[in-house]
Amino acid sequence: MPDLPVPELLELDRRHVWHPYGPMPGQREPLVVESASGVRLRLADSSGELVDGMSSWWSAIHGYNHPVLNEAAREQLARMSHVMFGGLTHEPAVRLAKRLVDMSPEGLEHVFLADSGSVSVEVAVKMCLQYWRSLGRPAKQRLLTWRGGYHGDTWQPMSVCDPEGGMHELWQGMLPRQVFADPPPAAYEESYAEHVREMVGRHADELAAVVVEPVVQGAGGMRFHSPAYLRVLREACDAHGVLLVFDEIATGFGRTGALFAAEHAGVTPDVMCVGKALTGGYMTMAATLCTARVADGISRGEVPVLAHGPTFMGNPLAASVACASIDLLLGQDWQTEVKRIETGLREGLAPAAEVEGVRDVRVLGAIGVVQLDHPVDMEAATRAAVREGVWLRPFRDLVYTMPPYVTGDEDVARIARAVCAAAREG
Ligand code: PMP
Repeated sequence: MPDLPVPELLELDRRHVWHPYGPMPGQREPLVVESASGVRLRLADSSGELVDGMSSWWSAIHGYNHPVLNEAAREQLARMSHVMFGGLTHEPAVRLAKRLVDMSPEGLEHVFLADSGSVSVEVAVKMCLQYWRSLGRPAKQRLLTWRGGYHGDTWQPMSVCDPEGGMHELWQGMLPRQVFADPPPAAYEESYAEHVREMVGRHADELAAVVVEPVVQGAGGMRFHSPAYLRVLREACDAHGVLLVFDEIATGFGRTGALFAAEHAGVTPDVMCVGKALTGGYMTMAATLCTARVADGISRGEVPVLAHGPTFMGNPLAASVACASIDLLLGQDWQTEVKRIETGLREGLAPAAEVEGVRDVRVLGAIGVVQLDHPVDMEAATRAAVREGVWLRPFRDLVYTMPPYVTGDEDVARIARAVCAAAREG
């Protein structure tokens, strides 16, 4: 396949291709990536390489072009790239489901293999609503969440995103009307725990579930909170007959220093969503896990099936790579690698605290965040990072990084320098 000259490629991109949240007025044209290997993105036209500080939005935990993941994809491709999942099953999907059940918090037993994070949240919501319908409680249809969250761009997930976050304001008034608690503070405060207990209790008759991102609120503001709030939610949900859904799409597979963020609190949700790093960022696949109680409840209903079945459900190619990615992760001392990156980011980001206009610097696991006291100039901040040889994607008032776990110490230091430069110039 002949390469398109870069100017022509960019012109066609501009004319025909929609990017996430695009086109943004005044946004500079995208950089053209030619290939990616290890932690480096190689740009077209001999424009050099960038160390990836984003893991392609939390996904590429093992880096790019990994021989083990490549081999898993090649091997599966030679057998069967895709086959419909209705009425048929296959080993990659079954193996993946078993691995997910084995590694997830105790009690999660049934796995729906979805094709994106947003869809896995849609499925989680359908599970919860259907569970209560099956039990003869159809009024339990609403969801409670805390403000500042992000759960995806399709309809039900948008309804539990931060209503003032700017991502989905256009749709307010049309989305299902959910119940919003205040955003969780970073440290444990009994008064906040009481606020959450009171909200769950007050709305219990109409609540199907509480849906939250555990420990880290990602795209809604990159905020961290005490795991103790997850125990508060578990107790309140149990006390008032409400299901608990954890969206671990960003936090899953080790990112926060635990395999799943729920482990920081020793809590099992009724439903858990995973995605992003599930396939090491290779394929579009996500999953919704639930307990036997939820699955049995649905099966006992008037309509005893979970009415969801996308064309690419259980995709064997994605499932094989996901199994290989999980084996790769669990087969190494990933905790030490995440800890190493945490230490590197802590040291490297410390100078950002002295930068004028920086409100907060925080690090948890392989996540580093610099929060400004003003909206970031995305173009200037991105340019500053690229000048340091690093790919970052600042947004709102945030410059942040979540590097692949295989990022070496020197590259972690370089990423931290780039975050500081982006914070200074953005
Ligand atoms: N939930 C969380 C916590 C996320 O971070 C994301 C993606 N940013 C989603 C859901 C949606 O996943 P996807 O983009 O794969 O649809």
